[in-house]
Amino acid sequence: MSYITLNRANYYHNLDILSQKAGDKSKIMAVLKDNAYGHGIEIMAGFAKDFGITKVAVKNLSEALAIHHLFEEVLILADQSCFQVFAQNISMSVHSYELLQKLPKDMPIHLNVDTGMRRDGVGLDEVQKCLQYILKHKLNLKGVFTHYRSSDDLNSEFYWQRELFAKVKSEVRYFVEKNSLSMPKFHSCNSSSLLRSEMFDEDYARCGIATFGYCAIDPLLGLFDLRPVMTLWAERLSSRYIKKGEKVGYGGVYESPKSQIVSTYDIGYGDGFFRYDGLGELAFCDGKTVIGRLSMDSLCVEGEDEKIRLIPCAQELAEFFKTISYDVLSKLSTSIKRVEESF
Ligand SMILES: *Cc1c(COP(=O)(O)O)cnc(C)c1O
Repeated sequence: MSYITLNRANYYHNLDILSQKAGDKSKIMAVLKDNAYGHGIEIMAGFAKDFGITKVAVKNLSEALAIHHLFEEVLILADQSCFQVFAQNISMSVHSYELLQKLPKDMPIHLNVDTGMRRDGVGLDEVQKCLQYILKHKLNLKGVFTHYRSSDDLNSEFYWQRELFAKVKSEVRYFVEKNSLSMPKFHSCNSSSLLRSEMFDEDYARCGIATFGYCAIDPLLGLFDLRPVMTLWAERLSSRYIKKGEKVGYGGVYESPKSQIVSTYDIGYGDGFFRYDGLGELAFCDGKTVIGRLSMDSLCVEGEDEKIRLIPCAQELAEFFKTISYDVLSKLSTSIKRVEESF
């Protein structure tokens, strides 16, 4: 059976790099959304807690409920269906004034302000209105944040949005002090924006992909020794001897250029792996390449190894499929067993 092993030491190593950048581990909000980018939310939450992480972000309420007993703060990033206070350490991201108006008194919230991404968040011209509403209806404003649209890229957009967020921070601070509210936490950086920051001075950074060992930041913005946490293993189902000129798999798109042993392994697109159509060369770890089309439950590779590693090569796979490592990792089926790597 295919399975995933998770390397605790590598996760700690990546968190150390990010904590150093941020100043301290208390300044890292570990992003565990989407089943911890496919790694398995419960195991990764345990690792994060053991490392000393106190704040995490998740996708929705069900992820929050699964792990909130481990942390001081759990921020829900993308769930618009939660209109009830579940626990004081579960906060909701508020992406619009409309949503704000549906939330009950005492609801812990982080207000998302759109500083240029134009995806979500309240407008710069709506911040006052939101603060007034929060004050009047006694919502618990725990944080104010924004998200950068180009933190991986070598251009000045990051600085432009950061300037706008600095103005938001002043506006919020002024309002909060004037009305004797408690000061919310300010946060804007994801992994890449923290890594490219020279002087990080916010309350914390929301880090996902780099904690798992990947980052697509432009190399001119810095090179970082991040180590993949996940290894995805597939086990051999069967092997056969293929003669030169024989075709392998659906459509017979692969014609063997030589006599060789080909084995079939138990991962396919039904497991959340990308479907490869057999065209071009899909290379992955340990110098191996996929032979013919990928099936729903299996793929073929030269040789007779009992098991093969398909990840850590999320970056290479992402490039082949013209996508990003986040996509390769987060799609992996929840039914694949995840275990801590043992030595
Ligand atoms: C996913 C997400 C993050 C984490 O981004 P990485 O690039 O994985 O570090 C941070 N903030 C928000 C709002 C997100 O949705």
